[in-house]
Formats: sequence, structure tokens, C-alpha cells
Amino acid sequence: MQGLQNKANIVGAIPCGCLSTREYKKKMSVSFFTYCIDCSVNAPEIGDAGMMGAPSLEIVSDRFYSFGWIYDGLKAISLLPYSIESYKSFLETHQGHKIFLGNDHMDDEQLPELNYENLEHFELETHGFTEGTYEMVSIETGALFRTSYNWESYKNFEEKELSKAEINRFQQRINQDCFESIYRGPPSLDPYEDLGRLIDFVKENAKHTLKVRLAACRRG
Ligand SMILES: [Zn+2]
Repeated sequence: MQGLQNKANIVGAIPCGCLSTREYKKKMSVSFFTYCIDCSVNAPEIGDAGMMGAPSLEIVSDRFYSFGWIYDGLKAISLLPYSIESYKSFLETHQGHKIFLGNDHMDDEQLPELNYENLEHFELETHGFTEGTYEMVSIETGALFRTSYNWESYKNFEEKELSKAEINRFQQRINQDCFESIYRGPPSLDPYEDLGRLIDFVKENAKHTLKVRLAACRRG
């Protein structure tokens, strides 16, 4: 962990080791936030004040997985909800700066000295995203995976077949081990709901030709 902190210039308490994600869920509700200390900017929220690994774009699997690791796996299958793409854009903008990941159970003295009243909030423009569902289908059998809610927004992409390399990269990156680094993210990335179902779906259909697409929700 120390190595990752030094390399990525991450400061603050990364909540590894003490409580697992399931234990967090059972025992208490924790809200996470990320700041760039150098620029006094607040990162976009991930899901419902959740967390997707250590705030670094490096592709690192340690006791605590990096955001970059998880993002790389999701990108392989074009599953990129708005808040994930937004957080990635924040990390790109503030690469090399002091990034702080904290939570609302920390004491004041653990928090960085910042002018909290005047923190800027990083926001990514919402164009280039589609509100609806993300779908994966087996061309051979028609078996379909679809995310549970039609109000999530995903980064646009054209319907396409996944290559074997992309399927492998998703399977290699997004596994049980990194679940501990995912907490209360967007609904489509809940390890115990949509993401867990998706992992099983890919496993069962990995030998098939898999197509991914976005289905825009139709209102009214
Ligand atoms: Zn910065």
C-alpha cells in the first residue's frame, strides 16, 4: 500500500484492511469524497458518495485496487457510467497532484487543511452520454444481460462485438478480489447485484460472440 501511495501521490486514509465492503454495508453507512489538495477541487461523487478503489489512474492491484485498474476492466466492455467517466476525467486533470480520499467517519485532524467553503466542484459535461440500459447479448443463443435501471447514463458507443482480448481483460480486471475496493458506486457496478450478474453472464457465455450496446430509455 505504501508503494502505491508514494507512486501515485495519494494522501489520506485509504480504508483497507480494517473493514471489508460487506462489513461496511452491515455496520454503518460511510460516505466517501475525493479532493485535489493542490487545487482545492472536489471530485465528482461516485454513485451515492461511494468509492471505486484508490484514486489513481495507474493500473495497480494491491491489497487495495486502484481506480485505474477497475476502469480499465470496465472500458474493455464499454461499461462506463457517467460518474465513473467523470471521476476518471477529474483524475486525468489532476494527475501528479496531491489527491485525498476520505470519508465522513474520519476525525477533523485526519482531513487536509482546505478552504472547504470555497472548494470548487469538478463537473464533466453530460453530452456524449445516453440515459438507458447497458446490454450484452450472446449472438449464438440470444442470452441477454441488461442493467437493472433505465435511468443510468453511460458513455456513448456504437453497438459492437467484443474481441476475445476485451473479454479477457474484463475478466482479468473485474473479479472477486477487487470487490473489496468497490463501495456504493453506480447501481450498474454493484458487485452484489448488476456487476455480479454480469460477471456470471460473461463467464457462462465467454466462448460465444458477445455484442454490447446501449438502449436509450423511451419516455412518455
Ligand atoms: Zn489539482
